[in-house]
Amino acid sequence: MSLLSLEHSKTVYWADALLYGLAIVALGGFVIAFVPGPLRWQSLAWVGLGLGAWTLIEYAMHRFVLHGLPPFCGWHAQHHARPTALICTPTLVSGALFAGLVFAPAWALGGLWRACPLTLGLLIGYQFYSLTHHAIHHWRADNAWLRQRKRHHSLHHHGDQPGFYGVTTALWDQVFRTVRPSRTSGPSWPTRPANRPPSSA
Ligand SMILES: [Zn+2]
Ligand SMILES: [Zn+2]
Repeated sequence: MSLLSLEHSKTVYWADALLYGLAIVALGGFVIAFVPGPLRWQSLAWVGLGLGAWTLIEYAMHRFVLHGLPPFCGWHAQHHARPTALICTPTLVSGALFAGLVFAPAWALGGLWRACPLTLGLLIGYQFYSLTHHAIHHWRADNAWLRQRKRHHSLHHHGDQPGFYGVTTALWDQVFRTVRPSRTSGPSWPTRPANRPPSSA
């Protein structure tokens, strides 16, 4: 299977999540161990800024790139056609985007001690988004928050009007008025117990 294909085996799909988990631990450890003392509190703020920025990037990427810009919208259409298939951005592509569009410019503009925590915040946001999106399509909704995320994402997939582009939060849908009235009571894709491995269907 190509390293650049969109649909992955279970191994490659979960290896992506593992690699991002390791990258977060490694970068977090680096920041904790090496950021100069006087900049510690400031780096916490940069992590927070990265996390917040991710939620807006998640919304904008989904709305304007994945639903508006070829060839990305064609690729994303595959997910809409088969929501439980193990489709995600190849690790090489997402990693290159984080390195080239986030870390490198942040390093050039703000220095290493701002670039590292900012990138860390964005990576945590991306990992949280990836796991939330997986849970929405594959896991049983065991808590109110996940049930709401499932309902909103179901309306994104099956609603009468385009909307609900945010996966982890509806904040930016509210800001940009892409919240849609509820028509369905729950997700229309199959749900399974959370402790079973994901289906590759
Ligand atoms: Zn979509
Ligand atoms: Zn989806």
